[in-house]
Amino acid sequence: MALVASLTFEQARACVLSKVTEAPASPRIEEIGLAEAAGRVLAERVVADRDYPPVARSVRDGFAVRAADLPGELDILGEVRAGETFAGEMHAGQAVEIMTGAPAPRGADAVVMVEHVTVAEGRVTVPRSLQSGENISPQASQARQGDVLLEPGRRLGFAEIAVLAASGNARVRVFARPLVALLATGDEIVEVSQTPLDYQVRNSNVESLAVQVARAGGCPQILPVARDQYAATHELIERGLGFDLLLLSGGVSAGKYDIVERVLADLGAEFFFDRVLIMPGQPLVFGKVRDKFFFGLPGNPVSTMVTFEVFARAAVELLGGQSESELPMVWSKLRRDFRQKTGLTRFLPARLSNGGSEVTPVPWQGSGDIPALANANAFLVTEPDRESWATGEWIRVLLK
Ligand code: AMP
Ligand code: MG
Repeated sequence: MALVASLTFEQARACVLSKVTEAPASPRIEEIGLAEAAGRVLAERVVADRDYPPVARSVRDGFAVRAADLPGELDILGEVRAGETFAGEMHAGQAVEIMTGAPAPRGADAVVMVEHVTVAEGRVTVPRSLQSGENISPQASQARQGDVLLEPGRRLGFAEIAVLAASGNARVRVFARPLVALLATGDEIVEVSQTPLDYQVRNSNVESLAVQVARAGGCPQILPVARDQYAATHELIERGLGFDLLLLSGGVSAGKYDIVERVLADLGAEFFFDRVLIMPGQPLVFGKVRDKFFFGLPGNPVSTMVTFEVFARAAVELLGGQSESELPMVWSKLRRDFRQKTGLTRFLPARLSNGGSEVTPVPWQGSGDIPALANANAFLVTEPDRESWATGEWIRVLLK
């Protein structure tokens, strides 16, 4: 089969994002309880049901005061706790003892912290001055009733769940998880529970992909291994196209028995690229057949894992209704010198340390080295046209 297109990392990434975004995927919507909603993608707009906070309230334990009275000695008029309101009104020369979260009494415009006052015989002495508004969170300072708090397409993490809970959503509408078919290919592949012969390997790729798919919000569907024969591969790819996305592992290199692309072509596939200038994972295929996207991920385990993270993950996220997909990249300082051959964007196993401020490459034996990847917590991302980095220089890092 003739090469379709060989792209740089940036071009390939942009291609995946634009192709999947263009396709009008409208995932099914389901309504679930809040306790099940973590990691799901919001399918509705969440609006503030009231002002946040609904009244001006204290952010400290202390005394509600009038800033104009300070410094000074004030009469303690009473007390207000979280969960109640102060019935009366405060006047000049007066203070009300107040707890964090309690509404500011009428007439008060600041709260002095309990640590900054002395109390004796029904009077409080405040030796300092305060700004009007100090230690009071004004009504609606976080959101006004009717404001949009969350837009559809947002992945629900713990803070989004807190927003939903605070605004009274015991149930929430989310997009159905996309079903992602995982199809390993290869005559040498055996089940995880089997003892492989010297020339066989256990099917680790579908297991790692299942974890990655689930982490991206998809629902992994593991298919039987496709042997490197035309008919078997054809039949299983057909099956895989019954799901929302098809991920193949292996069979996309230049070997005589790498038949995945041929089968897909015969099924009428459109190929957007079939080589990316990256390492690991150069022979990566992305295309569409019968309205379904597919990735032919290279079979070497590190290549499979890396190309999923860098390309296929975005497709799973977008097909799941997420409004955007970002690669979690940061910059960090190298802890040792480092050289590469130019021409490829490399994703090299690495360890972040010192709070992520420093990064060290993990020694590895190439794209079959699963243990090296298990020892890494990140990838160095090299620029293809640069030959060397010195200790202490900044380098891009993809979080694992
Ligand atoms: P391929 O891309 O088909 O040429 O596969 C390259 C290498 O990746 C093979 O020689 C295997 O060692 C390894 N490999 C392929 N498929 C899997 C799999 N499902 N699980 C683990 N290793 C695999
Ligand atoms: Mg193979």
